[in-house]
Amino acid sequence: MSDCIFCKIADGNIPANIAYEDDRILCFHDLEPQAPVHVLLIPRKHIESLDAAEEGDAALLGHLLLKVKEIAARLGLENGYRLVSNCGADGMQTVKHLHFHLLGKRRLLWPPG
Ligand code: AMP
Ligand code: ZN
Repeated sequence: MSDCIFCKIADGNIPANIAYEDDRILCFHDLEPQAPVHVLLIPRKHIESLDAAEEGDAALLGHLLLKVKEIAARLGLENGYRLVSNCGADGMQTVKHLHFHLLGKRRLLWPPG
């Protein structure tokens, strides 16, 4: 997607503070962190949201989810963390490229606002 900001980050056309990357996924620090550690995990493939994910994305999304614990450990989140994916209007999704927020290093409130 030529006008997608996260595709541009994945392609290296927009700079980001990258915490982890491989051939299928990318993890970078959020521009407006909501916790002392706040990174975004994205598939390199443009998928609009979880709502748009398909059966054929199962291995990709499984890979992403299984990387979370490794990235969390690298970022020092030994006391726990939260993984969130906002989807659609009610989910308050603002960037239409599937991403998971990984937040940690503070006690997070529940329920969310
Ligand atoms: P959401 O509201 O769930 O769609 O989350 C989008 C997130 O992307 C927000 O937390 C933004 O702060 C973050 N964001 C937007 N543009 C960038 C960027 N260029 N680099 C890093 N984070 C970004
Ligand atoms: Zn995209």
